[in-house]
Amino acid sequence: MSKAMVCSCEDVTVDDVKHAVSRGFCDVESVKRYTGFGTGICQGKSCLAAVASLLEREKALKPAAVVPFTPRPPLYPTELRLLASAPVDMSVPPVGGVPQEVDAFPSSLRPEGPVPEKAKVVIIGGGIMGLALAYNLACEGETDVVVLERGYLCAGASGRNGGGVRMQWGTPALVELAKRSIDLMKSFARDLGINVWLRQGGYIFLAKTKPVADRLDRNAALHNKFGVPTRIISADEAREIVPGLTMKDCLTASYNPEDGVIFPWPFLWGYAQGCKKKGVRVETYTDVTGFETSNGQVRKVKTTRGDIACDTVVLAAGAWSPEIARLVDVQLPNEPHRHEILSTEPLKPFLGPLVSVLDTGLYFSQSMRGEIVGGMGDPLEPVGLNMGSTLRFVTRFAQALMEQLPQVGHVKVLRQWAGCYDVTPDNNPVLGRTPGLDNLLQMSGFVGHGFMMAPAVAERMAKWMATGESDELFTRFSLRRFSEGTLEREDMIIG
Ligand SMILES: Cc1cc2nc3c(=O)[nH]c(=O)nc-3n(C[C@H](O)[C@H](O)[C@H](O)COP(=O)(O)OP(=O)(O)OC[C@H]3O[C@@H](n4cnc5c(N)ncnc54)[C@H](O)[C@@H]3O)c2cc1C
Repeated sequence: MSKAMVCSCEDVTVDDVKHAVSRGFCDVESVKRYTGFGTGICQGKSCLAAVASLLEREKALKPAAVVPFTPRPPLYPTELRLLASAPVDMSVPPVGGVPQEVDAFPSSLRPEGPVPEKAKVVIIGGGIMGLALAYNLACEGETDVVVLERGYLCAGASGRNGGGVRMQWGTPALVELAKRSIDLMKSFARDLGINVWLRQGGYIFLAKTKPVADRLDRNAALHNKFGVPTRIISADEAREIVPGLTMKDCLTASYNPEDGVIFPWPFLWGYAQGCKKKGVRVETYTDVTGFETSNGQVRKVKTTRGDIACDTVVLAAGAWSPEIARLVDVQLPNEPHRHEILSTEPLKPFLGPLVSVLDTGLYFSQSMRGEIVGGMGDPLEPVGLNMGSTLRFVTRFAQALMEQLPQVGHVKVLRQWAGCYDVTPDNNPVLGRTPGLDNLLQMSGFVGHGFMMAPAVAERMAKWMATGESDELFTRFSLRRFSEGTLEREDMIIG
């Protein structure tokens, strides 16, 4: 046993790192997430080398595979009020950003040996969608499943999101899915043996304009029909729930005390662990590079570790889905849009709900670790797979946050990062069969809310796949709707 400290900011010991390795978290990015090393005030400056040499000594990886984790701005903890005053020209669209994350992970991280020669179901993408589906298929008795992930678990949007889970939606389909998901989350620890730190502190949506206020009114009535206790609250009530909230320029607010936040990483690990226990193979650092098709069917999935023959393929690669679909000449209407997010130093608990100004896309909540976690959409963000971080974002965010919560100006930002929303024309997912390639199933297009939808969508999709029973979800949200013009627009999108 070694209690020797490797990361003093986050109290991570040599033993903690060894434990992570014994659970299969061997590369530096995964160990960082599993143990928390490098996520504190020094951002890895004093512990990264120690962890890397420990991993090399443990022979967890080939020496060439011990590569550092992606550094995150700012260079040192910086107060929100300083960031708010940075001289940024807001008329210039946010291009670029740092770091420019790699398109391909180093081949030294690739596991040795080929992927299985065949499997009944191949799932492309080891994000929350792919893993939740694989786990639910196994629960339905289908364990001949392989999940292919080009990076580490949590490399995509599922490891980069704000962890918000809410029932406040604008269409019955999403209200029902979110309700079911939150029910499943409540028993996740018991079912999957991992704590996802679900905290139902509620969500407060603020409206600054009449059309948004009307939307909140209309949607609250819809929620009540489904048993969701959303209510419209006055500015004073909002200030009672969130002391110090200014409600500047806000006309009204809606509040559902049963919405909440979770910690995204254990959620993914829980599903991945559940998959492995049931015999499903989760192959990380394995890229899908192409397909073999004949007679309107996908026959094989080609990867950097060989081909897999299969009966069914599920495309669950989030914002990367369109580029993978193009490899079999399928056009998806999804577009990737970068969304930036940040986290501050930890504070004592002071913020119950997640607060969002629906008009501007600002949102912020307090994590169970005490950090303020928040983001804000950018109307000038160009379409594209970009996960760089910008000063423009932190400045816009800090200004918007301090407008509503001025007392946090002295709080320091520890790190910022970005991920991609997987945006569809009607803000609803693409699910079900692909016209012309019947055994290629789609599971993407979850915009900025896939995390909270995954448990319920995966449960229904696994049942639909395993039993063949019809389910209207997979016709309602099928790819055909874009050519048939039967779109159903969701209007409760943050950012
Ligand atoms: C900043 C931000 C904040 C968000 N906040 C929330 C929130 O509060 N609540 C919420 O519910 N949702 C939120 N979301 C959205 C949510 O994170 C996504 O909808 C969800 O994670 C999508 O899951 P996924 O499995 O479809 O995609 P991903 O998690 O992106 O997984 C797709 C995986 O496919 C892999 N892949 C790509 N190409 C290949 C290839 N060629 N071969 C093999 N694998 C490949 C990728 O590496 C990736 O891991 C947020 C998103 C962002 C970016």
